[in-house]
Amino acid sequence: MIPASGSYQLANARLHRSLTPGLATSYDADGFALADISVAGGKISSIAARGKSNAPADAIDLAGRIVLPCFVDCHTHIDKGHIWPRKPNPDGTFMGALNATGADRTARWSAEDVARRMDFSLRSAYAHGTKAVRTHLDSVPPQEEISWPVFEAMREKWRGRIDLQAACLLGIEGVRDKAWFERLAKRVAAAKGVLGVVTYMVPDLEELLDQVFGRAIKHGLDLDFHADETDDVAAISLKKIAEASLWNGFEGNILVGHCCSLARQPDLEVLDTLDKVAKARLAVVSLPMCNLYLQDRRNNHTTPRWRGVTLLHEMRARGIKVAVASDNTRDPFYAYGDLDMLEVYRMATRILHLDHPVGDWPKAVAATPAEVMRLDGDGVLTAGGSADFIVFKGRSWTELLSRPESDRIVVREGRAIERQLPDYAELDELMVG
Ligand SMILES: [Zn+2]
Repeated sequence: MIPASGSYQLANARLHRSLTPGLATSYDADGFALADISVAGGKISSIAARGKSNAPADAIDLAGRIVLPCFVDCHTHIDKGHIWPRKPNPDGTFMGALNATGADRTARWSAEDVARRMDFSLRSAYAHGTKAVRTHLDSVPPQEEISWPVFEAMREKWRGRIDLQAACLLGIEGVRDKAWFERLAKRVAAAKGVLGVVTYMVPDLEELLDQVFGRAIKHGLDLDFHADETDDVAAISLKKIAEASLWNGFEGNILVGHCCSLARQPDLEVLDTLDKVAKARLAVVSLPMCNLYLQDRRNNHTTPRWRGVTLLHEMRARGIKVAVASDNTRDPFYAYGDLDMLEVYRMATRILHLDHPVGDWPKAVAATPAEVMRLDGDGVLTAGGSADFIVFKGRSWTELLSRPESDRIVVREGRAIERQLPDYAELDELMVG
């Protein structure tokens, strides 16, 4: 359907208001409008509202199919991905995940093991239509010396197909070893990475956060936190991060993931936290599939009673940047997943009620994570921008989100890509023993 020449016009594409900032036209109640898209030289040369363009007779008629920009996945763990067959989570709990992953990392995460699983994940993401991925890298000694060089090589290998970013990942107690943490921050800076930690309510949390912000400022790094991935109402590290950012006068980008406990806290506590998060210009990413899987799992004899996700609607209402992302794939933190951001958006719509109206929620898988990751021009469709988009079968939200859309067409720099998913059997030899 998409000419291999890379030069063509698509007529009757259904575009969404939230992802086509340059297109002034009237949109329907679902935020859609029909438009014609001209593509040449790997770029979108023009987008014109239907009726206002002179589509040539040989234009490809999309008959109202939805066209979205390629996805941006701002929170993943492709260093952990796909270890499930050799290291399952014994009981599906968070502690089960933490212990199983730690044991597997110590025993098995050689450079080759990490590289092959990362590449597998990136091939899946690419085939599904994602063009940028941020991964966290477990950076507990000595893993940081193994995984960061692998990441740098993988970023080179994938350059032009997936923009790969990495953030270090360690429990905040690791920051107490100041000399080691300074070395890690230097290593992250050398790799043009992002400084990341997991925050818990340890007694010296404020002091440790000051250390983290201090290193980020010194080395010019953006920050990425895992915060409050628990139902414990006493977990308020999101608020502590916002306070530390204001206190330190931090000017970089900060992304905070999870923030599950916020949904369990009393309203006054929530309002105070959201005020500070907005003031400190934090961005928040929810990981709905992983949260649904891990949160409120007590034992095998109870039914979960809450969804695990944070207060995304209340955040958006305050102007806080909000995203949704994949998180883990086929590892002890989440037994499923394939880095398919359409699946993430479909699940997020159901779990988080991102519908009726849809509003500008589609930005949460494209334009907003692109901003947070400083990927100028990604996550939107604009004249003069890269011709990186996905053509779906669905013509409405209910059509788009009811089927897996396995036959979607992914276009990169104007040309349809091969969408072959990697075969699980490729990883079999890494799973034995
Ligand atoms: Zn995570």
